Parts: sequence; structure tokens; C-alpha cells
Amino acid sequence: MTSKCRRCGLNRAEIYLAHSNLNLCPDCFSLLTERKVKNTIESYKMISKDDKLGVAVSGGKDSSSLAFILSNLYDKLDMTLIYIDLGVPEYSKHCLEKVEDLAKILGKDLVVYSLEDKMGFTIMDLKKTIYGRKPCSACGAIKRYLFNKIAYDFGLTKIATGHNLDDTVEALFNFYIEGNVKSLVRLKPYLPKTHPKIVPKIKPLIGLTDMECLFYASYKGLPIRTLECQFSKGSRSIRRKEILNMIVEKIPNFKHAFINSHYKRILPLIEQALKNQEMPEIYDCPLCGMPTSLKDAPCHFCKIVSLVKGELENKRMYAS
Ligand code: SF4
Ligand code: ZN
Repeated sequence: MTSKCRRCGLNRAEIYLAHSNLNLCPDCFSLLTERKVKNTIESYKMISKDDKLGVAVSGGKDSSSLAFILSNLYDKLDMTLIYIDLGVPEYSKHCLEKVEDLAKILGKDLVVYSLEDKMGFTIMDLKKTIYGRKPCSACGAIKRYLFNKIAYDFGLTKIATGHNLDDTVEALFNFYIEGNVKSLVRLKPYLPKTHPKIVPKIKPLIGLTDMECLFYASYKGLPIRTLECQFSKGSRSIRRKEILNMIVEKIPNFKHAFINSHYKRILPLIEQALKNQEMPEIYDCPLCGMPTSLKDAPCHFCKIVSLVKGELENKRMYAS
């Protein structure tokens, strides 16, 4: 038996949202999804009309939905898409095609930063040299640094990323297990400016699940990648997401309840407890001039760059 959409009562329901026990047709689902994002943006005061927003895009369902929703909700917003080409064979070019198509659909500028052209190495070189195994942690650090640096160099006032509810709960779950209080405090929907060279970060999709982002992107016909990065298989974060999804099968609103109690009850208590702690000093990296917590030493990004470049140079010398 087919059921009618719970919102309009007219169209056939095609989506069941177990966490809120709602059967919806595609039109009502899209409308409610955009409303949820708008509520998140407004409740955290994420965007103001004078913002020059950078949207970090990857060709994936989350960042593509984010860029599409933002340009629907705020058609006058100054918005630039930023893509980092990591040089992963097939995958990076495939993603680049998707973000180029997205930029055309939205009529927005796209900044493409090629790691190989600008820095002289790719993520594959990280694997061949300093990281025998998966290069994901260095890749993550490189992307975080570059999105901030590009936004800063272009005079953008904020960076929006496609982190959704599933990503956030997975990260929180990990930090709780590790007892990593510093990272727990930093993982916020809106990270304001803490230094003149640090561009504020916003996560407007923090209330949407993986599934909602996927349905939204498919109903809107957005260009999204169909390939996965070759290093993504079997990662710890994917395994943690699988465990969390098993809990959701028994407790459908588990992730929503988890995130609500973290931000409304636990985080304020942690922040209160840390109130009198001294803020860590921030220094300028002697190599790139960007902020770092390390005194008289290169920042994490510059360390990775000099290590990988040094090893590549050694390899070339031995080969010649
Ligand atoms: Fe980078 Fe790892 Fe993601 Fe591939 S799977 S893009 S290497 S973080
Ligand atoms: Zn540096």
C-alpha cells in the first residue's frame, strides 16, 4: 500500500524519515530540508548579508547540497566555491568535473587549487614518502590549512563546509572515547575568528543526516561524484559510522538526541569548567606566516610540505 505525504497530504510519499517518523513526498522533503538548514543558520547566526562566503566543495553529496541550498536560500549572497585538487588518480579529476558542473548550474565562481601545480606534490607522494600507509590524517590537515589560507588570501569572511549530522556525531563519539576535551570544545557549528588570519568556519548542514543529503542531492539532480577516494576504504571513521548506524536501527533519533545533549547540556558545562584556563599562545609560522601553536617552529602544514619535498628530492637524487 502506498502512503500519502504527511505534509501536503496529496502526493505519494517516497521518503521515510525514521528519526521524526515522517513520510514525505520529494517536494515536501526538499522544502523541509532547506528549512532545517535555514533554522540552523539563523539559530547560530552563521551568515550576515555582508559576508563573502567561501564554500568548500569536494564533488560529494554534502558539499554540493550545501552550495545549492545556500544559493537557493540567499540568492544575493557573495559566494565562491573552493575545490582542492589532491591529485588522486581518476578520483580528483572526476570530482573536479562535478564541481565545475555545479559552479555552472549555480552561476558561482570556482577557485581550483591544484596541490601538484602549487606545491609540487600530490597526496600519492605522501603515501610514497612520509606515510607508508593511508595519507588521510595529513590529507585532512592539508585541506584544513588550504581552505583557510585560500579564503584568507581571497578576502573571504567565512568558510562553509558540508559536515553533516553523521560526520559530527562520529567525530564527537571519537573525541569522547579518547577523552579529547580540546577537540570536543572546538567542534562547533560556528567557529568564530580567534586570530586575524583564521577565517571563521560554519557548518550549516549539522542538522541533516547522510541520507537526507543524499536524497536532497538526487532529487535536485545535482552533479555528484560516483567514485570514492582509493584511501577511504576501511577507514576508522567509516567503521565508527557503521557502529553508530547500528544504534540508530534500534533508536532512530539517537544521533539527534546525542548532538542535542552535547551542545545544549554537556558543552556549556565543559566551557564553564575551562573558563579560567589561559588561552594557548598563537605564533606566526616562520615559513608561511600563518598562525600556529608552535613557538619558533614551522606549522603542521609546512612540516608536512618540507618532509614530503625533502623525501621526493632524495628519491630523485638516488634515481639519477
Ligand atoms: Fe584525503 Fe583520505 Fe579523504 Fe582520500 S580518503 S580524500 S586521502 S582524507
Ligand atoms: Zn607554515
